Amino acid sequence: MSRPRLSVVVPCFNEQEVLAETAARLQSLLESLVQAGKIDATSNVWFVDDGSRDKTWEIIERLCKESHCIRGVKLSKNRGHQQALVAGLFCADGEAVVSIDADLQDDVAVIEHMIDRHREGADVVFGVRKSREKDTFFKRQTAEVFYRLMNWLGAESIRHHADFRLMSRRAVEAFASYREVNLFLRGIIPTLGFRTAIVEYDRGDRFAGTSKYPLRKMIAFALEGITSFSVTPLRMITATGFLVFAATLVMTAWVLWARFFTGEAVPGWASTVLPLYFVGGVQILCLGVMGEYLGKIYTEVKARPRYLIEAMAGVPAEGSAPASYG
Ligand code: UDP
Ligand code: MG
Repeated sequence: MSRPRLSVVVPCFNEQEVLAETAARLQSLLESLVQAGKIDATSNVWFVDDGSRDKTWEIIERLCKESHCIRGVKLSKNRGHQQALVAGLFCADGEAVVSIDADLQDDVAVIEHMIDRHREGADVVFGVRKSREKDTFFKRQTAEVFYRLMNWLGAESIRHHADFRLMSRRAVEAFASYREVNLFLRGIIPTLGFRTAIVEYDRGDRFAGTSKYPLRKMIAFALEGITSFSVTPLRMITATGFLVFAATLVMTAWVLWARFFTGEAVPGWASTVLPLYFVGGVQILCLGVMGEYLGKIYTEVKARPRYLIEAMAGVPAEGSAPASYG
């Protein structure tokens, strides 16, 4: 059976507390997999420093010096988890690439099962959490609302799958041809097709440091996911517009009827002012949704690079590291 070269990609943003431990665990995993004859001896780990402000890059550089199987990529500034992941996927040279968070909340031992599925022919293997017990109540609830909303809006995503997955070289290359800047990997990867598989695992606690996903980033991420994958909000505008129009027709008929057939005093103020506010509100809301998509088009047509690499460490051609982009 084939022994693919495995690259593990780890996006890191201010992860100085966890890096050394993460590197040690991943390294020992690689060693045992090499021993078991499941992966090639040239397998490696790629740490992508997503513009950290702490000692993350210094630690990565040190790890690269200490071990032949560790590589570092430093992005020029903080671009967010998804972009850091993409940078890692494109830099990594493995025949199979596994992405995993730096905090090791995802069980590294599961990588072995992912490799097994890959060796059986799967191009994409999704890591799926069995339960979310370890997440806070708030995170669980918001995630649930998010999945529901996504599905309802027609953007299918794999439930309880975060960004812990294996991709074959072929799948990574196919993904590279998707040039969109607004990235929501969990939505895009399933649309690639190919043979896929799922492995289940239990998600643990972050073993050190704090979450790098505050509420602000979570909301931005959810909005990104929805507007990158669904045009339903745009259609809802049309529906709202239609409803308001119909309601206005009915109201007009009623006002005319009241004026000509009942002789009652027409309630002038309410019928003039209330619709004004109402329609005004609806219009502003609609403009907001339109703006959301317009903003997307704006960033896409600029076609700016998704990330810039400032430095590399541990790669053979070091020193002449070009300021590359993707
Ligand atoms: N991360 C990143 N850039 C960011 C935010 C997060 O590269 O702007 C990385 C972070 O270092 C970690 C992963 O994304 O490896 C997931 O973040 P975290 O564990 O904080 O998220 P949570 O598990 O709380 O959802
Ligand atoms: Mg985490």
